[in-house]
This record gives sequence, structure tokens and C-alpha cells, in this order.
Amino acid sequence: MTLVDSFGRSHDNLRISVTDRCNIRCFYCMPEAGVKFQPRDQILSFEEIERFVRIAVTLGVRKLRITGGEPLVRKDIAELVRKLAAIEGVEDLALTTNGVLLGAMAQELYDAGLRRLNVHLDTLDRERFKQITRRDDLEKVLESIEIARRIGFGPIKINAVAVKNLLEPDIVPLARYGRERDIEVRYIEFMPLDSQGLWDRDRVLVQDQMIAMLEGGIGPLEEIPDRDPRAPATEYKFTDGIGRVGFIASVSRPFCLNCNRIRLTSDGKLRYCLFAIEETDIRALLRGACGEAADEEIREAIRGSVQSKWIGHEINSTRFVPPPRPMYSIGG
Ligand code: SAM
Ligand code: SF4
Repeated sequence: MTLVDSFGRSHDNLRISVTDRCNIRCFYCMPEAGVKFQPRDQILSFEEIERFVRIAVTLGVRKLRITGGEPLVRKDIAELVRKLAAIEGVEDLALTTNGVLLGAMAQELYDAGLRRLNVHLDTLDRERFKQITRRDDLEKVLESIEIARRIGFGPIKINAVAVKNLLEPDIVPLARYGRERDIEVRYIEFMPLDSQGLWDRDRVLVQDQMIAMLEGGIGPLEEIPDRDPRAPATEYKFTDGIGRVGFIASVSRPFCLNCNRIRLTSDGKLRYCLFAIEETDIRALLRGACGEAADEEIREAIRGSVQSKWIGHEINSTRFVPPPRPMYSIGG
């Protein structure tokens, strides 16, 4: 059974946000103060998430990514990792984190069955890190990455948000850092998902500009033919054979036609697109009845959400309406 939408795209990839809370405050995601988080009783329990995943797996979902807010601030998160890793049919489990708490939790997460990590890191410069995240935690993130490498996580990737007139000095140093550690750096074009309405097309540092910087600063890049055409990143390798980089060019090269993702928010809403306006209330169903008939109702709700999926976001059109939820409340 597969989740095929009306444009023929099949969906096997589920991103699960486990909290909207975060221990840092990246300006392109959260305001500095006054964030209104979901009340705790609105957040799905681990048992509710596990039940949802078990049902989604019967519809062909195979890949899971745990995200947030910051997933590592959710109490006992390794317990959820353990539950999800044990579900038959789950072939791939990954987690996206800002890395601040990762060092202290890495062994526990590894022991629970996690292997794939994306660590969010925009800069290697302490002052710029403070400017972007409004916290002085760069050292902790760098230390966490070393700890995760030593434990044996792999692949570890780095996510950097490419904001124009800001991230230019970091593009080449981040790639060098990745080359030295066999870590792929993924540059994500700044998307209109910030909570303060700061996004503007002129503030997006686009893939082509970054490629030019990398080739000027390090050396020629060669595109790696798509191993998985549905993966969001376009990947390049340096022609000297050392290291690779990826670009998630949602703005300059939207990849909606290949999208295979659905998203569950921490308060239990199912979204068929990062930019979706409408959502399906899964929490109400999860907190209603139990049993096979109730599970079938949830299955039907997932199918319905995928069926109503639009052809793609319209960032590049005047019709574009930013979604009511900012990034920290969706999960990326
Ligand atoms: N807190 C974790 C983290 O930062 O990795 C996980 C959640 S965060 C919302 C997921 C990813 O979204 C981050 O890795 C960051 O790169 C990306 N992100 C956040 N705001 C963004 C924006 N406005 N445009 C593009 N990417 C963004
Ligand atoms: Fe927190 Fe991640 Fe948003 Fe940064 S991008 S504020 S780390 S949720």
C-alpha cells in the first residue's frame, strides 16, 4: 500500500516534530522573546507518536526524521528513538538537532538505535553564532559533533541556513570544516518560514551564488547524479576527491515535483507540505477510540491528507501565502 497523491508522487517519508520548544533562538526561525509554545497537554505523547507511525508504516512510510523545535529538549527523547527504531518496516531513522545538547546525549541516542544525524550549524565564528542564535553555544555544538563522530554516528550532515548579506563569510569555512571531517554541509536557502516576517527574496543566498563562492574559495565542484531523485538536496563533490556539499534550493530551484514527505507536528497535525495552509487533526483521532476501526480512520485521514496535496508551494508567485506556523512549529 502506498500513499500516492493525485500527481503520482508516492510518500514514504515522515518528519515528526516532537516539540516546538527550543534552547536557542535562531533569528530566521524564532523571535528572541515572547514565543508562545503549545501547552504540554496538546503535545503528542510518545505512545501516540508510536501508534501513528505504526499505522503510517502500513501505508508505506519507511523513513522517519525526528525534529522540533529542538528535539533534544524533549524529556526522554532516547526512549522515543528506541520505540521508533524497533518498529518493523522502519528502514531509516534520522534526527535533526541544533547540537547544543547532543554531546551529553549522543551515547544514549546511539544505544537507542539512532545513527543518522543532521546538526544545524551556520558558522564557525563565535560572534556570528551569537548574532544568529542569540546564544553563546558554538563551543558546545562543535564539541558535540566531535563526540558524535567518535561514537560512530554516520552519516553526520551539517545544515546551514543561507541568508544573504549574512552567511557569505561562512560558506567556504563551513565546507572546509566538512571536508576535514568527511561531513557533508548542506546549505539551505532561507525560506519564508520565520516567525517575524523577516523573509524577503533579496535575503536569500541562492545555490548558484554559493557554488561560485565554493569554487572560488576551494576548487571546482561536480554535480553528483541523483542517487535518489526524491531527496531534497542537490549534491556536489569537489573534483579533488575531498568532500561534498549539498544545496536545498527550495527558493531558486523548487523540488516539489519530487516531494515524498509528510509531516506530523508536535501537537498532532498532519501536513502534506512545509508550506501547507490546511492541516489534518490526527491528535483528535489518536485521543478518540482505539482498536482496528479507529486505526483505519487514522489511515483514511492520512490518505485524505496526501490526496489533497497541492502540486507545490508558490514561493515564486505573487499568490504565495506564508503558512500560519513558523519553522519551529513545523520542524523543517
Ligand atoms: N532545532 C533543530 C535544528 O535547528 O536543526 C531542528 C528543527 S529546525 C526547525 C530544522 C531545520 O530548519 C534547521 O536545521 C534549520 O536549518 C532549518 N531552518 C530553520 N528556519 C529556517 C528558514 N527560515 N529557512 C530555511 N531553513 C530554516
Ligand atoms: Fe531552534 Fe532549530 Fe529554530 Fe534554530 S532552527 S531556533 S535551533 S528550532
